[in-house]
Amino acid sequence: MAAGSSFLVCEGLTKIYGGSPVRALDSVSFTLPTRGVFVLIGRNGSGKTTLVRILATNLEATSGTATLNGFDVMSEPDQIRERIAIVPQEARPIPWITPLQSVFSYLLWRGLGYEEAKKKASEVLDKLKFGKKARVFNRTLSGGMKRKVLMAMILSAEAEVIFLDEPTTGLDPVARREFWEVLQEVRKDRFVVLTTHYMEEAEQLADMIGVLDEGKLIALGTMDELRRRLLYNYSVQLLSLPELPLTLTEGEMVKGRHDLPVILTTEDEAFRIAQNLSREGIKFTINPVGLEDIFFYVHHGGDTAGR
Ligand code: ADP
Repeated sequence: MAAGSSFLVCEGLTKIYGGSPVRALDSVSFTLPTRGVFVLIGRNGSGKTTLVRILATNLEATSGTATLNGFDVMSEPDQIRERIAIVPQEARPIPWITPLQSVFSYLLWRGLGYEEAKKKASEVLDKLKFGKKARVFNRTLSGGMKRKVLMAMILSAEAEVIFLDEPTTGLDPVARREFWEVLQEVRKDRFVVLTTHYMEEAEQLADMIGVLDEGKLIALGTMDELRRRLLYNYSVQLLSLPELPLTLTEGEMVKGRHDLPVILTTEDEAFRIAQNLSREGIKFTINPVGLEDIFFYVHHGGDTAGR
């Protein structure tokens, strides 16, 4: 990559699936100048998988362009495919071979010689601390370990760009944390595009965050940049609906999870509201603003930057 050039550039990317009136992606434009982890968040159906599939050359856009490391995803797919590795949402390792055989055969398939593939496969499984599990059948592994086998394959390949579509969906909290640790290793020298609907995951991992909503990119930035777009730094999330309308002296109300109100406000006002809510017997949580609040805020139309 030429110094100073942008790594990932999308211009007006639009996807309308055949026979469908829905714009799965609606004129998405953004530029990412650095490496690291780019996390795409959004509700189900917001277009995350569609965007990943276009960038990974698995799907053609209806219009618009995208370049990865200077190569055009539409006209130079071969150059892109040499440089990327993708773990689709539904991917599972082959059940009747071992993790070692999985990584080894993947490397052979990618063009490495027998000896080199063998050496690399052992190295990567050692690095990911597989131990004896490197030699048992994949089908006997837990869900978390199965995903780890896929990560081992991807890591071994030394692709410059790694696409992970909802890699931790369905994993238990321990397996999710293990996966995050593996990713800390991967991010050091790769560019990772990861989709998730777990806000905590995005907060933990992302160098950059993009928020997709109904096919539109409604926000893009680092966690700090996104946070700065909000005027307020405290969030009061109601866990049930109040009987009387709430009055705020300072702050804004947005619709949060299950359409329950979230109040974004100052620390003082948050504690004043909390006292009133307690008096009324309404359950709530009070926290510094997090990514989930930012998501509800931009979804609510509170911010149009990044479009
Ligand atoms: P996400 O990954 O955020 O859940 P998707 O990219 O899978 O979102 O889907 C975006 C939109 O495109 C949704 O409305 C979905 O129903 C639609 N869609 C996805 N794949 C297809 C397809 N193969 N044919 C028709 N519509 C599709």
